[in-house]
Amino acid sequence: MTEPRTAIVTGAARGIGAAVAQRLASDGFQIAVVDLDESSCAATVDAITSAGGTALAVGADVSNEEQVKAAIERIAAELGAPTVLVNNAGILRDNLLFKMTVEDWDLVMGVHLRGSFLMTKYAQKYMTEAGYGRIVNLSSTSALGNRGQANYSAAKAGLQGFTKTLAIELGKFGITANAIAPGFIQTDMTAATAERMKVPFDDFIKFSADQIPVQRVGQPEDIAHTASFLVSEGAGFVSGQVIYVAGGPKD
Ligand code: NAP
Repeated sequence: MTEPRTAIVTGAARGIGAAVAQRLASDGFQIAVVDLDESSCAATVDAITSAGGTALAVGADVSNEEQVKAAIERIAAELGAPTVLVNNAGILRDNLLFKMTVEDWDLVMGVHLRGSFLMTKYAQKYMTEAGYGRIVNLSSTSALGNRGQANYSAAKAGLQGFTKTLAIELGKFGITANAIAPGFIQTDMTAATAERMKVPFDDFIKFSADQIPVQRVGQPEDIAHTASFLVSEGAGFVSGQVIYVAGGPKD
């Protein structure tokens, strides 16, 4: 990079988003750490600044248009035009279809699909103006179908179509768009799933690792490493792809 670029990472207070934010900061990006509550971003911001990086905590609900608009305007004013966006914020509201409420369907669609749409819609202006951009959306192996996740699976499959369309529309402006589809990553999200299934998290991890070809579950840093590649200048010919980061093949 000739000069530091501004990267936005949503859902960056913890888990995968926090690891991506820290990794991109160590790659030289200035990071907008976006999460629901600005104060919850402090740990990620502190980790970045104490390592010599630059980060700004920004509170916003990615599914709320006014909050997204204000957040992106603030990021552009305080850090500089954002030309990298990682749409990572996510929630689970798992249930079998017959028990799934309309509210749980709408909430999951709202954060993953509407959230990624809004963040991208307001950030792409800065990327097209710069003639350069990198967009990474967090999909999931659940996009291929997963019991108890009709809402989440539909949203994560939707994000793959969204990603491919962004790649087609924005390619001529020097912008790439790709999706990362993680398998089991050890975070609060998978801990919550273990709790819901009434299985100790350690047992859940061991059982899952046994099913994965590389014989371990993923860590947030595995996803951060992939994101680091996709947002790099050198990855400019990789666009519209879905990269499964799951310790083995998926299709
Ligand atoms: P996590 O630990 O639950 O972290 C998600 C973060 O997103 C939280 O900080 C959460 O804030 C934030 N968030 C939720 N709703 C938001 C909203 N409306 N606006 C802004 N921020 C919001 O989850 P994770 O495991 O790191 O997952 C990160 C992404 O990877 C998600 O998109 C997830 O679907 C995807 N993924 C994860 C796995 C896995 O195995 N962990 C596998 C495949 C895909 P609060 O803490 O305030 O709720």
